[in-house]
Amino acid sequence: MKIHALAANNKQEELINFDYETNSNLPHDCIVKVQTCGICHSDIHMIDNDWRISKYPLVPGHEVVGIVEEVGGLVNHLKVGDRVGIGWQSEACLECRDCLRGNENLCNSSKATIVGRHGGFGSHVQVDSRFCFKIPDSLESAIASPLLCAGITVYSALRYAGMSSGQNIGIIGIGGLGHLAVQFAAKLGNRVTVFTTSPDKEEFARSNGATEVIIGTPPRKIKDKLNIILNTTHNDLDWVRFLSLLDSDGTLSFVGVPPSNLSNIHVNMLLNKRLRIMGSPIGGRAMINEMLEIAALQGITPVIEKFPATKVNEAIAKVRANQVRYRAVLEF
Ligand SMILES: [Zn+2]
Ligand SMILES: [Zn+2]
Repeated sequence: MKIHALAANNKQEELINFDYETNSNLPHDCIVKVQTCGICHSDIHMIDNDWRISKYPLVPGHEVVGIVEEVGGLVNHLKVGDRVGIGWQSEACLECRDCLRGNENLCNSSKATIVGRHGGFGSHVQVDSRFCFKIPDSLESAIASPLLCAGITVYSALRYAGMSSGQNIGIIGIGGLGHLAVQFAAKLGNRVTVFTTSPDKEEFARSNGATEVIIGTPPRKIKDKLNIILNTTHNDLDWVRFLSLLDSDGTLSFVGVPPSNLSNIHVNMLLNKRLRIMGSPIGGRAMINEMLEIAALQGITPVIEKFPATKVNEAIAKVRANQVRYRAVLEF
C-alpha cells in the first residue's frame, strides 16, 4: 500500500508531499489511517537535525490518532476499525529488566516513531501494534493527540515523583506541557501552584485548575510547602530557591531541560529534608493506558489550535515562533 505523507527533504526545509510503500513483512505491525497528529517541539528538532540523528526524507509526527486499517498476522489485541494513538516511542526489546517492569520507555533498545522511520504526518502510518494505544470513546481525536507525548510526559513524571491526592504540587511553566500538568494534578485532587514569568498567563493557569499563581521570582517562603515541583520550562532558574520551597521528602522533577548543569546545590540541602531531584522521559505502556483512562474520566482537555494538513508549513512556523496556544494539531 502507498502512504501519502509530508516530509522534509533536508534540514530546516518546509515539508513537501512524499509517497512511500508500506512493508508487509512485519507481523506485529498495523497500518493506521491518520485522523489527527499533534506538532511537538521534538518534531521541529528532528526536522532541523538538532540531535544529529535525522534521516531524510523525514516524516515527522508522533502524537498520532487514527483508525486501524490493516493488522499483521501476529496482532491479536487490535482489530480493523479500532481507534488508536501512537506517541514518541514505537519499539522496545520487551525482554529486558526495564521492559519487564513496564518501563519500556527506559529500554536501551527503545526506538522513536520518527527516528529511522516515518511518522504520522500522512494519510497513514505503519507502526508496531504493541505501541498503539486504544483511545477511550469520550476523547475526541484532536484532543487525544497531544496527550500521546505532552500528556504522558507530565503525567508519568508526576506519578514517579509520587503524586497521589491531597498534595501540594508546583508546576513551573504554563505552556504546552505545563497546562496539562496543572490539569492532571488539580483534577486528581491536589492543590496546584503555578510558577510563571508571564503575568498575562495567570488567568489561564487558574482556568486549568491552579489555586496559586506566583509570577516572577519565587518567594523565599510559601505557606504550604510543596510535595512535588515539576519543571516544564527550558530555562536556567534558581533551583536552590525551588528546593527550599519543597516539604520534607519532596521531589524536584524535570521534564523541561535547562541549558546549564545544576550547580551550587549542596548535598546538605537534599540530605536535611530528604529531598530528591529526578528527571523523567515520556512513559511506559501501562502508564500511557492509565493516563488515557484518567484523561477520559476526569475530562483532561489540552488547549489546542487545529490546522488542516494542507497548512502544515504554516502550523510549523507558528510552533517555531512559539505562537501556538498551546498545542498545534493537524487534521488529515
Ligand atoms: Zn513529543
Ligand atoms: Zn527492553
